[in-house]
Amino acid sequence: MLNIVVLGAPCSGKGTQSEKIATTYDLTHLSTGDHFRNEIKLRTPVGLLAQSFIDKGELVPDSIVLKEIYRKAIKKIVKKGIVFDGFPRTEHQAQMLQRSLHRRNLSVSLVIYIDVDESELINRMLNRCHNSALRSDDNAEIFQNRITVYKNQTLPLLEYYSKRHKLTKISGMASVEEVFTCIKKAIDAHLND
Ligand code: AMP
Repeated sequence: MLNIVVLGAPCSGKGTQSEKIATTYDLTHLSTGDHFRNEIKLRTPVGLLAQSFIDKGELVPDSIVLKEIYRKAIKKIVKKGIVFDGFPRTEHQAQMLQRSLHRRNLSVSLVIYIDVDESELINRMLNRCHNSALRSDDNAEIFQNRITVYKNQTLPLLEYYSKRHKLTKISGMASVEEVFTCIKKAIDAHLND
């Protein structure tokens, strides 16, 4: 089983790259953000609850993420492994993931960190606002909060996974294809180890 965690700031391209990884290596793509957006569209109780946090650029509380999303989703895994996109986002979530995989005799195989400068993240967010389907959390003020939340709560995961020798840092300051080529090299190197 190949279980890959993709870490990156909002607008770092983690969703796009996770999708490409899942297709190329025949893995299940598990995006907590997409899952919440779907629940919001369906106006489920979980969706409505999640929306109140997402719209402020805050993280959805761990109790909801872990119970409603992660535990349900992980049971559906039928392929050769999972690409975790947007999960874990806190050290507590990382510990829960580790425990849950361990119970199944599995582990996180590697963690890909997509590194993008903050000014570039803001440019991309502004472009996304102009060009594509608007997300309720894509506006300058909320975006800034998402970056702050990311720095405070998610960035510590770099050290967490680095200590466990899982972390590979990839520059995200290039085209989608160029970034994916680097990611593919890292995954292939892991597979050939
Ligand atoms: P994303 O599409 O990954 O950028 O996620 C969009 C929003 O969904 C985030 O800003 C959070 O509010 C929420 N979210 C997604 N994944 C998580 C998670 N693992 N923990 C808490 N909140 C999450």
